[in-house]
Amino acid sequence: MNKDDERFQAVLDKMNERIDAISEERPSHKEALGFVRDVLTEKLKAKPRIQVDTIHMDEELLKVKKKEGFSLVNKQDLKLDISSASALFKRLCERMKQRERISEDVDRITKAIEADELDLKELFQKAAAEDREYMADVSGRLKLQEGLLFFLAENSLQPIFETYAEKLKDYVDMEHWWRSYCPICGSKPVMAELIGRERKKFLICSCCGYEWRFMRTKCPFCENDERRKFKYFFTEKEGRAYRVETCQKCKKYIKTVDTEETDEEVIPAVEDIGTLYLDAIAREEGYTREVYALGLNLADI
Ligand SMILES: [Zn+2]
Ligand SMILES: [Zn+2]
Repeated sequence: MNKDDERFQAVLDKMNERIDAISEERPSHKEALGFVRDVLTEKLKAKPRIQVDTIHMDEELLKVKKKEGFSLVNKQDLKLDISSASALFKRLCERMKQRERISEDVDRITKAIEADELDLKELFQKAAAEDREYMADVSGRLKLQEGLLFFLAENSLQPIFETYAEKLKDYVDMEHWWRSYCPICGSKPVMAELIGRERKKFLICSCCGYEWRFMRTKCPFCENDERRKFKYFFTEKEGRAYRVETCQKCKKYIKTVDTEETDEEVIPAVEDIGTLYLDAIAREEGYTREVYALGLNLADI
């Protein structure tokens, strides 16, 4: 094994270990975690082959972006490695075909690609631009369940955005950003983390995976910062390491991992699906979620 293979194997082992541990602890989450395992394994495998351009940002442009609160890049402007994304898309389809509830839909997608009725390059560009109308049109035409096409496209692109983020992260002025969207790609957060004894809060980007500082008592969706309208809860049984932070103003919530309360290394997509019990409670309490892990509400499929 070379160094890259070893690194890949170590990441994969850690992910599988964590998924096994949560599955044992919460058997009701086992099926959903199996789904995450499939998706993350393919994404990890795809990553080393991805080609992205080097982007140079000059001082003047950075100053303007910082002043205006613009993210470093717009996802739709980035050059996409279509061949890597297409290969990953097909691998994900292979995996998803084994899942009963979506196998027929995935079959229709595969046939549409073969018959040139679905252009993957166009699909990826529309997904990068978050063109929901296009997704709805194609999904309607192919008679697909809501969200499935976007989920496949978005996850096929994510390793590319993560690779861009790794190249661009040194341009971020972390101490002066403090906004509710990603300083690199402008996307919304999928989860939050509290880090260190001071419980510094970080938001995790739903698209490129970058983590940036944010205020403890501010809603990342409507930016409400009235302390009393911001509440959190956790369950006694599963413990305080995983909590739901709710906004009384916009009625949205975000799940937060208090990393000081757990010895586990946090793998956001795994922890997210491993805490579906919290989503169920939040929903019962009347809160809605803005962004789902892997871009998919598992209740939909
Ligand atoms: Zn991002
Ligand atoms: Zn809010």
